[in-house]
Amino acid sequence: MTTHQNQLEKYAALALKKGVNLQRDQGLLINAPVEAADLVRILTAKAYGMGAKNVHVEWSDEIVSYMKMKNAPLSVLENFPKWKVDALEGMVKDGYSLLTVYGPNPDLLKGVKPERISKANKASGEALTNYREYIMNDKVTWSIVAYPQESWAKKVFPDDSAENAQNKLWEQIFHITRVDQDDPVKAWEKHNETLRKAREFLNLKQYKRLHYTGPGTELTISLVEDHIWHGGSTTSENGIEFNPNMPTEEVFTMPHKYGVQGTVSSTKPLSYGGNLIENFSLTFENGKVVDYSAESGEETLKHLLESDDGAKRLGEVALVPNESPVSASGNIFFNTLYDENASCHLALGKAYPTNVKGGSRMSKEQMDQHGVNDSIVHEDFMMGSAELDIDGETKDGQFEPIFRKGTWAVDFE
Ligand code: ZN
Ligand code: ZN
Repeated sequence: MTTHQNQLEKYAALALKKGVNLQRDQGLLINAPVEAADLVRILTAKAYGMGAKNVHVEWSDEIVSYMKMKNAPLSVLENFPKWKVDALEGMVKDGYSLLTVYGPNPDLLKGVKPERISKANKASGEALTNYREYIMNDKVTWSIVAYPQESWAKKVFPDDSAENAQNKLWEQIFHITRVDQDDPVKAWEKHNETLRKAREFLNLKQYKRLHYTGPGTELTISLVEDHIWHGGSTTSENGIEFNPNMPTEEVFTMPHKYGVQGTVSSTKPLSYGGNLIENFSLTFENGKVVDYSAESGEETLKHLLESDDGAKRLGEVALVPNESPVSASGNIFFNTLYDENASCHLALGKAYPTNVKGGSRMSKEQMDQHGVNDSIVHEDFMMGSAELDIDGETKDGQFEPIFRKGTWAVDFE
């Protein structure tokens, strides 16, 4: 077996054991691009080896997707097929685990009219509301792992041949996900422990507000009452521990949808719907974006913000120290799964109901009263840097340093 093949096997095993934590007699749904067939076949073999009752693969192909976006009548893009919704909902209702293999071309839909993309995104976002509820409430176990498709690898390493770029990106992925260590499963257990300490510290503190200061950023974020910080592994409704993202370096909680004031500037490009949004800033009043600008991709940003009412409000606040293994790589990945784990970030759109006590059982009205944001989108964007300071404001108005110069100012031990 070549080293690459050996690493691929370890990566697949890690995704199934520590990612979705697949159980005997469970179904597994894999969403993957056709380019990732080698990994998907290994995943499938291992999943059956672990006792899966069925492995269903939803294949996609970027070139085919591009052709559809470019050519299909708008009426087709605006109607997400019901049979597909039924199939996906059927699987989560039957307790399937969900594994997404992800490595899109960040510029795929450059040249396609933004309103066509936004209409298609809106249609799928609305059609998949129920399906998304299963995921965002951890009713099923789910995980996302990366695969360096050629188009993505060439974006990260533009001066290399396609083959070299893919090899380099694999090397990064194996390193950052700890697959290059002797026992990646053990390494993840240790890593989850570190993140557990950070989130437990913050859960005890129950800060009322977070104050952010950095270049182009002066922002205050109220946290919802009884918020819960998550990070590393989490537990599904039926008690299975899993890691939703590989890699993951963040601890995150819930901002109050009406409690965000000030301006935030992005520090890394955001790839959204096949287009890049770069060097943008957002100004908030009472939780809502009232002004924005972007050096490039402003029209894409506009469509993102106009997806629905909740898209202009925050649904996640995440802390990531600037010296995480992802940022240590020195690369910009143009891929949210990687870039968000190199940088403090926020998300526009839907909040994870699990980030507040009792959140999974709240009605729409209760969610609104509590400040829990709802939307058909959830888009992380990066705003951390080596110059970012964050203070926590306690319930009695004291300010305590949480981050200084982009890293923890707190000792959790
Ligand atoms: Zn995040
Ligand atoms: Zn997020």
